Amino acid sequence: MPVQCSHCSQRRAVLKRPKTGHSLCKDCFFWAFEEEIHQTIVSAGLFNRRETVAIGASGGKDSTVLAHVMKVLNERYDYGLNLLLLSVDEGITGYRDDSLETVKRNQQQYDLPLKIVSYEELYGWTMDAIVKQVGLKNNCTFCGVFRRQALDRGAMMLKVDKICTGHNADDVAETVLMNVLRGDIARLRRCTAISTASEGEGAIPRCKPLKYAYEKEIVLYAYFKKLDYFSTECIYSPNAYRGHARAFLKDLESIRPSSIIDIIHSGETLSIKEGVKMPVQGTCSRCGYISSQALCKSCVLLEGLNRGLPKLGIGKHHRLHGKILAQEPLTEQVQRKLKAVDF
Ligand code: SF4
Ligand code: ZN
Repeated sequence: MPVQCSHCSQRRAVLKRPKTGHSLCKDCFFWAFEEEIHQTIVSAGLFNRRETVAIGASGGKDSTVLAHVMKVLNERYDYGLNLLLLSVDEGITGYRDDSLETVKRNQQQYDLPLKIVSYEELYGWTMDAIVKQVGLKNNCTFCGVFRRQALDRGAMMLKVDKICTGHNADDVAETVLMNVLRGDIARLRRCTAISTASEGEGAIPRCKPLKYAYEKEIVLYAYFKKLDYFSTECIYSPNAYRGHARAFLKDLESIRPSSIIDIIHSGETLSIKEGVKMPVQGTCSRCGYISSQALCKSCVLLEGLNRGLPKLGIGKHHRLHGKILAQEPLTEQVQRKLKAVDF
């Protein structure tokens, strides 16, 4: 027997909400999904009128849904925001070139301006070239660090007030788990924050309007709205550690769907024991980007690539920063260690 929508009792339910278990019709699901994001935005005070907001757009489901919902809510509730799309081209043939085509179509569909910044123009390296040098074990470290900075640099070129990204509840819960597993207290404290206030020069505030949206619901929303998104995985996507955290989270979710929100809440309410040393944010002496060391991670990684020493930015080599800044050569022994590549 067909199930009626538990909200409007007028239409047939087409889905059971993964987050709440409610049976809903399409329209009531759209409304509930969009309203929850609106509530997240309003209660956290994510935006102010007349702000220019860049939506980090990769062409994937999360950022496509984010762009769509931001446009809908901006009009429905008259947020008064000036929205635009900002994409990063990592230079991954057969992946990013195709997903950027999707972003270009989204630009037309949503009628938003689009800016693309590339690793090649910013760093002189594409991910294809980086993988050739560093192998497939640490590639995501380079890519993640460079992307973070690339988004900021793109946003600065566009003079935007804020960046919003498509991180969803599953991503946040996964990051909490990973930071617990690594004992990374500084990141653990930061990772559940819905927005980063300006943390210093060069950093544009970021926020995550989809922080409480379940990945499964994002997929359903994109599917029922027939949104145009790119669903292929990156060809260099080993990231084994995150993969395990993800698989663990999915197992937990299948037993108890609220696990995702519960993990986020645990992360939000954690407090750090007095006396625990936390890194002090300063700025990179080479590029001026925020950094807790003399050189930011991005500059160290780039130096490693340019010197043919890919391991320079992997692990802790802070004591070498002085030498790098002074452009001094490293000892034979150190060079040998930093040259090793893990394929
Ligand atoms: Fe970059 Fe790794 Fe993501 Fe591919 S999977 S886009 S290499 S971070
Ligand atoms: Zn209904």
